[in-house]
Amino acid sequence: MQDLTDLLSLEEIKRLSLPSNFKYGEAIFSRGGVEFILSEAQEVEAWVGGLDGTVAEGGSSRRRTWLHATPQGLTWHCTGNPRKHDIFCKHCVALALTLLKNQ
Ligand SMILES: [Zn+2]
Repeated sequence: MQDLTDLLSLEEIKRLSLPSNFKYGEAIFSRGGVEFILSEAQEVEAWVGGLDGTVAEGGSSRRRTWLHATPQGLTWHCTGNPRKHDIFCKHCVALALTLLKNQ
């Protein structure tokens, strides 16, 4: 099975997210707003966000966010999203970008 870092690239993160969420997530990432709870090759969990300022500056609520590498590919969940409608939100973007940088 592939690791998360095999499934993630800057292009893939951009493909999965709306341009606005990519931008907001990038702002959270660049301000270091990701605190890992669990960091394994195929599963990561983190607190993401909780920074002050406007949304464009990376300001957001703090959410618990997961990324999983599964046999079917990348899956994700953010406690800010309903479980049956999991968009690749700004928290997912910030977590994914942090993983890419740390790899
Ligand atoms: Zn979220």
